[in-house]
Amino acid sequence: MESFQSSHGKTIVLSLVKAIQDNAAYLSEVDGAIGDGDHGINMNKGFTLTQTKIGDQDVDLSSGLDTLGNTLLTEIGGAMGPLYGTFFIEMADASSGKAEIDRQTFGKMLDAALGAVQDLGSAQLGDKTLLDTLIPARNAYFEALAAGKSFAEALQVMAAAAEAGKEATRDMVAKIGRASRLGERSRGHLDAGATSCNLILQALASSMISLLTS
Ligand code: ADP
Ligand code: MG
Repeated sequence: MESFQSSHGKTIVLSLVKAIQDNAAYLSEVDGAIGDGDHGINMNKGFTLTQTKIGDQDVDLSSGLDTLGNTLLTEIGGAMGPLYGTFFIEMADASSGKAEIDRQTFGKMLDAALGAVQDLGSAQLGDKTLLDTLIPARNAYFEALAAGKSFAEALQVMAAAAEAGKEATRDMVAKIGRASRLGERSRGHLDAGATSCNLILQALASSMISLLTS
């Protein structure tokens, strides 16, 4: 199938919640190497609070992502609250009013999320941030669409590029955020935000693919 119903949004949002909950300790460990070790705690707090807020309501994709974004924006600490908050709010806006999510709509969602993080954080590719996962993932997704790939195939290509982008942060020197204070000593470690962004994109891809094929 080339689209899925937005009414299944809760499946997607809960898959994001689970990805962060399952990896909360790992994300803090990654942040602990070159940051202050709070990334998993911050993220787990926001995502778990979202799960509580949604409860047994049946939300569509846009409203589920909007709840997630607003919760991250207003309730979590660290650099990531505003960045991931606007990331998800912009994704929600780009899917608002769509009963069916197709590959073009998801492309708009990715672009909106990327634009939000760039506008707010002013980081560049190679600065060792979540953009080093998000930019290659976004670009690979659009290249797959241009090459005529199906929605599911393009999501797989995106997920593979996200993983590779995250891994590439290991060799980078942090240019922005807390880890930049370490300079050269930040090399040799993964970036925490790039790691969480990869988890988010993997969960989006696999939950959307399961909706497309069900
Ligand atoms: P803090 O650095 O305040 O402790 P977190 O630990 O929650 O916040 O998040 C750290 C992550 O934030 C970094 O690994 C990096 O990926 C991301 N980050 C920091 N500043 C920026 C920015 N300006 N643009 C994009 N991502 C950023
Ligand atoms: Mg931190």
